[in-house]
Order: sequence, then C-alpha cells, then structure tokens
Amino acid sequence: MNEKRTIRQLLREYGLQPRKGLGQNFLEDPATLQRIVDAAELVADDLVLEIGPGLGTLTRLLATRAGRVLAVELDERLAAILPDILADCPNVAVMHGDILALDPAGLFPGRTRGYKVVANLPYYITSAVLRHLLESQARPSLLVLTVQREVAQRLVAVPGEMSLLAVSVQFYGQPRIVARIPAGAFYPPPQVDSAVVRIDVYERPPLPVDDVTGFFRVVQAGFGQRRKQLRNALSHGLNRPIEEIVAALNRAGIDPRRRAETLSLDEWAALWQAMTAAE
Ligand code: SAM
Repeated sequence: MNEKRTIRQLLREYGLQPRKGLGQNFLEDPATLQRIVDAAELVADDLVLEIGPGLGTLTRLLATRAGRVLAVELDERLAAILPDILADCPNVAVMHGDILALDPAGLFPGRTRGYKVVANLPYYITSAVLRHLLESQARPSLLVLTVQREVAQRLVAVPGEMSLLAVSVQFYGQPRIVARIPAGAFYPPPQVDSAVVRIDVYERPPLPVDDVTGFFRVVQAGFGQRRKQLRNALSHGLNRPIEEIVAALNRAGIDPRRRAETLSLDEWAALWQAMTAAE
C-alpha cells in the first residue's frame, strides 16, 4: 500500500537523492504532518494549492480532507513519479512548474471561491512566494506554511521589530505561529529549526490605502536604510526634501526621529495618507 512507504523507502525505490539546491528536506514525522493539515481546517469542498509536494507525504493527507489538491512541483523527477505515488488519490492533480512563474489566477480554472495554500517551502523562496501569492489578483483565503523559525518570527513581528517582510504580509492578513518543528522531523534534517505559520488573509486589506504600489514605495523607502531615522531614510529613498518629509511625519503624528521598525501598520497608513495629501 502506498501509504506505508517512508521517505527513505520512496527515495530508494525510485533511485533518487534529495536535491539540496531545491530545498528538499522532506517531512516524515506523522504528528507534524497532521498538525500542518489540522491548521488548515480543511473541509470537503476546499481547493488546496500545495507548493512543492516533494514525495507526496503531505499531499496524501491533504487529499483525505480537501475537495481538490493541486500540487505544483519544480523538480521534474518528482513531478514525474508523483502521479504513481499518489495513484490512489483521485482528487490530486500534479503540475510540473515553478510556482513563482505561474499566475495564481489561472491555477483553478472556473474557481468560484477562495483556495487555501499549504506548503513546506524551500527556505530560499519564502518571501518571494508570499509576495507572489498575496499581491496576486487571486489571493488565497488562508496559508499554512512551514518556514524557517527565524522567518516565522519575523512574519509575526510587532512594532519595535517590524521589517518590510512583516509589513508586506500583515498588510494582507494575520499571521500566527501554530507549531514549532525541530530539524529532526525532516529527512534529511535541515540546518535550522522550522515553524508552521498560519496566515488568515483578509477579504480586503483593512487599511485605508487605495494605491498599494504607492504605499509600499513609502514603506520600502522607510526600511531602505535600516537603523536610520525615518526622516533621513524617507528623504533619501523617495528623493524628497527633508522638510517635506518631516512635515508629513508630523501631520501623521509620527516623531520624525523614529525608525521604520517601530511603526505599526496603522502608522504607515497614516504616513502614506499624509504624504499623498501633500502632493
Ligand atoms: N512537501 C514535501 C514535504 O513536506 O516533505 C517537500 C517539501 S521540500 C522542503 C520543498 C519542495 O519544493 C521540494 O520538493 C522542491 O523540489 C520543491 N520546490 C522548490 N522550489 C520550487 C518552486 N519554485 N516551485 C515549486 N516547487 C518547488
């Protein structure tokens, strides 16, 4: 029975070695896999996008709970054998491709409702995947992502420790850490510990920002020169006179000497409004 095969057995059976360059650390701890699936709170008609199904261990569990699972795998060797490994899961479709090169809007043709994303991500594409999905016209309703623990902590940061990544994610949804995973839960074990982050995506971003590109230009400028006071970072990054920036910060009720990492999302929105009002 397919279900019983472990990661090592599958690798041996298909004559494969994990590709480090593609972040191939496969999850083999059953309790951890179960926690990830539980965190997605799947119901029978859910559509799930799994990024990087690997050897299909998580995919199989997702398939037992969801309506349909679309599994996008970059490694052509794995994409070729997954239909065989998952032959007893008729509601799984495997697609060979790079998630970053695919438009999320085209992944579920005829889709009339939201979809969920569940992924044990290769660490080096975490930020790019988040941007790609959250900035898309077809945003998922929920993401459950296994990421490097340090990245998970950055995603759920509060003012004082904010980063461009935290603002970019918290603009679109509410992230929280739902599990911590030791390196030993994977084969082969990665160098770092991991965590599972669940992001509940807002139907509409709640901040009063109607030009998202313009808003993020300001945020990016603020974080462009880490540890610099906002007045200097923004003046430099937006190429605007410092007096103009100081006036906008004052109008927004933000001390111009503060640093980007201390601002809340509401303060960024207030600043953006103060800056656009001045234009
Ligand atoms: N889901 C499996 C598990 O939990 O055991 C595998 C997780 S492994 C950390 C990451 C998987 O993502 C690998 O199978 C890798 O080949 C695949 N991958 C890497 N980059 C990708 C990309 N840009 N698009 C889709 N899949 C990718």
